[in-house]
Amino acid sequence: MLAMSAFAFQAGVIGLRIASRAASANPKRRMLGRRRLPASISIPIPISIPISISISIPTSGWRDVGGGGGYQLFLNGFRANGTMHLIDTHCHLDVEDFDPDRARVLAAARAGGVREIVVPAIHRAGWPKLLALCAEDAGLYPALGLHPVYLAQHRDEDVPALAAAVAEQRPLAVGEIGLDYHVATEAGERRRQRELCAAQLAVAAEAGLPVLVHVRKAHADMLGLLADAGVGGGIAHAFNGSPEQAERYLDLGFKLGFGGMLTFARSTKLRGLAAALPLAAIVLETDAPDLTVASHRYQRNSPEYLPEVLAALAEVRGADPAELAAATTANARAVLGLPGAPDA
Ligand SMILES: [Zn+2]
Repeated sequence: MLAMSAFAFQAGVIGLRIASRAASANPKRRMLGRRRLPASISIPIPISIPISISISIPTSGWRDVGGGGGYQLFLNGFRANGTMHLIDTHCHLDVEDFDPDRARVLAAARAGGVREIVVPAIHRAGWPKLLALCAEDAGLYPALGLHPVYLAQHRDEDVPALAAAVAEQRPLAVGEIGLDYHVATEAGERRRQRELCAAQLAVAAEAGLPVLVHVRKAHADMLGLLADAGVGGGIAHAFNGSPEQAERYLDLGFKLGFGGMLTFARSTKLRGLAAALPLAAIVLETDAPDLTVASHRYQRNSPEYLPEVLAALAEVRGADPAELAAATTANARAVLGLPGAPDA
């Protein structure tokens, strides 16, 4: 599905490029251009079914690069490596799903242009492994926090432990924290989630750190907590709210994380939002090993697939992937307080 739609998008771009070149050339060539591509002359939006049929080789999509390089994503004809610098702003690279092949996954992600990865925590017991992993690699950044979905695992003393760990370790952010009313259906459970979240927001505010928030069916309450907490900003990860809620997060200094769900054609509401938002609002993420991309449905998600999210964003916005790569990376850098690229 992605290959098809990326193909159509790319074909449309080619159509426009040929058309504009034809217009600036001599009259004979201009006529030739018109004859070949009648639909590309008058339609400003770079999507056209007749054009996509007339081009035989797609220039975006996964391709076998040979030489043991495996399949790599090509965007607008260039391989998604070397020329791109992406940040996966939410990837659980520390979890045991990656124990068998973490080094390979990381190398593959880097080869695809995913140079930096933010690794958010789930529970206190996982912090030491997460911190050790990030200490080994300059492009991996830890976030520490207590995930709302795992409420039953958290203890009262974990919040002061978080404050101490944040002071001592200076992680990039406090996360993953939040509210999940899809999981918590009882009022008491939701209240405990709010209390845990508010306490962690206070830790972040005290430390002057951004937060990585997980919010499901609880945007109104989360926006209330954020307004009260006085945190400087952060990322609403796997954003799935309304345009109005998006605007309120942006007003609070937040960016909105878009991931694998964007690659599914059926995500019409989400794709509409990603198309309509100001570019300054958007950061990319995978949430690996969860929420995988369309091409790896039912499989483990991986930071390697982040370029596919970029391709989907380019498709829905009708924009150049390289431009979106640069903009979303700059957005992530700004909101997370990251200095310039380590290898730039
Ligand atoms: Zn997560």
